[in-house]
Amino acid sequence: MLMHVTMVGMQTPMIDYLHFLLDSVGTDAGAVASYIPELAHADPDKLAVAVASPDGVVYVAGDADAEFTIQSISKPFAYALAIADQGLDVVLEHIDVEPSGDAFNEISLDPETGRPRNPMINAGAIASHALVRGEDADARVGRILDLCSRLAGRQLSIAEDVFESELSTADRNMALAYMLRTVGTLHGEPTDIVRGYTRQCSVSVTVRDLARMASVLAAGGRTPDGDQAIAPAINRQVLSVMATCGMYDSAGDWLTSVGIPAKSGVAGGLMGVLPGQVGIAVFSPRLDPHGNSTRGVRMFERMNRDLGLHLMDSTDSTRSVARRWEREGVAVHEVMGDLHFVEAERVLRGFAQDPAGDAPVVVDLDRVHRTNDIARRMLLEGIRRLHLDGHEVRIVDPWGVLGSAETGSGELVRGEPARGGYVPTAFPDIVSALRG
Ligand code: GLU
Repeated sequence: MLMHVTMVGMQTPMIDYLHFLLDSVGTDAGAVASYIPELAHADPDKLAVAVASPDGVVYVAGDADAEFTIQSISKPFAYALAIADQGLDVVLEHIDVEPSGDAFNEISLDPETGRPRNPMINAGAIASHALVRGEDADARVGRILDLCSRLAGRQLSIAEDVFESELSTADRNMALAYMLRTVGTLHGEPTDIVRGYTRQCSVSVTVRDLARMASVLAAGGRTPDGDQAIAPAINRQVLSVMATCGMYDSAGDWLTSVGIPAKSGVAGGLMGVLPGQVGIAVFSPRLDPHGNSTRGVRMFERMNRDLGLHLMDSTDSTRSVARRWEREGVAVHEVMGDLHFVEAERVLRGFAQDPAGDAPVVVDLDRVHRTNDIARRMLLEGIRRLHLDGHEVRIVDPWGVLGSAETGSGELVRGEPARGGYVPTAFPDIVSALRG
């Protein structure tokens, strides 16, 4: 369920900033897409922005409830499903992952491999759609719609008028599908596949939906409700391809100047994902010559400048990950934040400060909500070594981040995840239990 921001005290400056952002983009250049007749009827002045945090808060401004078709922004999600269904190796045999520098609808394949160059241009997206399991277009689209709905946190539907309109003029995509079949990349009936691909592009969304979908990609494929809708390795593959190929023939310019993996659609939507941080969506129907929303691009450029959102701006999350303190001869390692390799290394460095001996040690993971596999294994190994050094180790792991693995001989003080709220740590009790 989408969480809306309810104000109890001050109004968060986030909302004011988003209004300011809308005001700052000025008047619009470009024209709405007209090769899909129904899109030519879109109100060109609509303007909206939404920013969603991975824990489910969505801030919006402008025409946030205006619905438009997802178009090419569906491509990353269909690609994710194709990988989940077929495995990455099979998908890579059919679709490459190289930026093409081509326009979205270019009729081109790699001359050597015969594969579409990436899943974000139409050739690759039609091939991804065909790799989604399902006996016909409706079955494949049903599964893509289900995935998008899970990510959006509400049941989405198809804009039938836009679908019919695009299908009646889909000659170019039809040509791409026949060409893919000629080179053996497409198994199945091209007309059925283009029908399915076109329906997938006609999923109706708002910026709220897209921002929330983007925030799930930002959170490694996990929804705010804890549903792992996209496996982390697939999520990473999708974001990598968005970063290098998401903005068609302006992908390089985009990655250097805006620095956020993104995907645009010809209805005027634009979705950006800053991994680990935020999902962003904008909507403004007039397009630039690359087929990207003119004011949408401007809003992202502005947000990058104002909010420092570039992917390549590094952070130093390790400095605040752990602190060690002592009480009555018991060393306590208090660990905070999400743990990956670099954070776990910092924690192990803290463990190494404890001189060998039988002094008790507490490892408190109460403020850790997620570890990746390597960080988890590093932590377990550190705990094992503390024990080998002679320490009596107690582990506080209310969220179960260490899983059910052997914890050396560290005793799990609280093994059951206490989900649903912050639980104060039990240090004083543990410390006195150890002393007593
Ligand atoms: N349905 C559109 C097409 O295939 C999507 C293109 C886009 O959004 O860039 O032509």
